[in-house]
Formats: sequence, C-alpha cells, structure tokens
Amino acid sequence: MTDFGSCEICSTDAWAPVHEGVIRDGVFGKHSHGTVSRCSGCGAERLAERACLPDSAYETEEYRAKLEGGLTTGDYFAGHDDLQLFTVEQLWPRSLRGAAIVDIGCGGGALLDQFAGMAADLVAVEPTPLFHPTLKDRGYRVFPFAPDAEQAGVKVDFAFSVQVIEHVLNPRTFLESIRPLLKPGGRLLISTPNRNDVLMKLLPDAFPPFFYRKVHRWYFDAESLGRCARAAGFKVEAERYVHRYPMANTLHWLRDLAPKGRTPMPGIEPLADGLWQDYLVSTGQADCLYLELSIAG
Ligand SMILES: [Zn+2]
Repeated sequence: MTDFGSCEICSTDAWAPVHEGVIRDGVFGKHSHGTVSRCSGCGAERLAERACLPDSAYETEEYRAKLEGGLTTGDYFAGHDDLQLFTVEQLWPRSLRGAAIVDIGCGGGALLDQFAGMAADLVAVEPTPLFHPTLKDRGYRVFPFAPDAEQAGVKVDFAFSVQVIEHVLNPRTFLESIRPLLKPGGRLLISTPNRNDVLMKLLPDAFPPFFYRKVHRWYFDAESLGRCARAAGFKVEAERYVHRYPMANTLHWLRDLAPKGRTPMPGIEPLADGLWQDYLVSTGQADCLYLELSIAG
C-alpha cells in the first residue's frame, strides 16, 4: 500500500485498514475523505498522509481557522479552559508549587495559567507565532519547539502535552524531544483522544467519521500509546481516563447521531453523569486518555 510506508513509531511496514471514507474536516458537519490504518507492529492508527492537514499549517493560522476556533487568545480560552481543569485534576494530591513546568503545544497558555503565581518557572512551547506575544506578556518563557527550549537550558519538574501528540508527524521523536527537558525524577503527562471511546462501539457506523479527522494523524488506545512512550525512552507510571461529557451527550448521539456537547436532556440529572463518567473511566472507555511518564532508568 503506497499510502503507508514504514511506521514512524516502530518502523514496521505492515498496516491494516480500519476506516475508509468520510472523516471530519474541522467542525461537525464538514467532511473530508481518507484512510486510517493500524500498524501491525505498535498498534497505533494513522491517517494516510495525503488526507492530513500539512504539518506546516500549525505554524500559521490555517489550523485554528480549520477548527473555526477563532484566532485570538480569548477564542482559544473559550475552547480550552475546561480541558485544563481535567488535566490539573490528574495531579491530585500533588502540588506544583515552586516547580518548573513546561507545556508542549500550549496554544494560548490556558494550562500554564492554572499554575501562574505558584510555579517557579513556566515555559511555553508553541509553534504558532500568533500566541507568542500574549504568552510573553504573561511572563512565560516562549519557544517554538522542544529542541529550542533544550538549547536554552530549560529543565523542568513537570512537563505537560495535552491533545498534541495526535497531530505530530512522528509521535516517537516528538516524545524523545521532550525527554531532555525533564530533571531527574521529572514527569511528563500526555493526553490524547481515546480510540477506545464507548461511542466507537455503540455507533460503529456513525461515530468513526466524526472521531477520525483531518487534523489528527494518529489515534491511540492506552496500549499503543504506552508502546510509543516506551520506544521513546519513557516508563509508564500511570494510565488514567477522563470523560468530559455528561450522559446526555451519549444519549444525544444515539438519538440524533450528532454531538450536542453539554446540552442537557430532560430526565437525565447530574447523578447520571457521575455514574456514567465513573463507569467509562473505570472501564477505559472515556473520551480522553492520559499517561504519566518518567524517564526509563
Ligand atoms: Zn508502528
């Protein structure tokens, strides 16, 4: 198959198609086409490169325009502040007071803002120049890519990379580039959409064309992401799940075949949301997957 060469993560060249046809292009309702295949070596799934948004788009305004997420830092916060709260919860019961922190692919800096005033050093790694002035204004040290931060001598106690690895050309070298930024004993928390999301099973025809999307090259479950992390020289310290949506979101999908976000549904109270989220988290079927990594000894 010419669309898939050697796997960027494990160098295997045997792929099996898992999805062919419609994929999401930006917001719900906009479509593109592509093939997603699973690597027989590491288990990662990849969208054929010719269907992907070009890597260079992340250094321009094209990516955010594609998501219709807006091009100002205010627009960015509107879409990202809630995700940061879920990420901060993963630290419990630890505090990062006095710590040095880097966020790789930090966008407008919503996660770093959670630690402003308590961390000793806050480092923003973000390829989109659009966000650099406001990140600098807020006192963050700013670099386009991890090797630039490494060259400047950045060393941190905690690194984050939230919903970034699915976009990059090579997830293994992406993780390898973060490793030198960690102090001995430092941790890296990464998250990505979970391809074991319960909706993939409940709606095997309707949900994959929404889950697979032009802006995501890579699709992981915990096992394949762990394999990639180990190939990059990390040890998996913890595997966790976060489900960001209420039960009504699942029910709306089943009834209307469309995402309704956090739109409430009569008869479904917050009690149901808690039970549903706990169920998905404990069975690994939530929408977000988190791995906490340390440098392998
Ligand atoms: Zn592979």
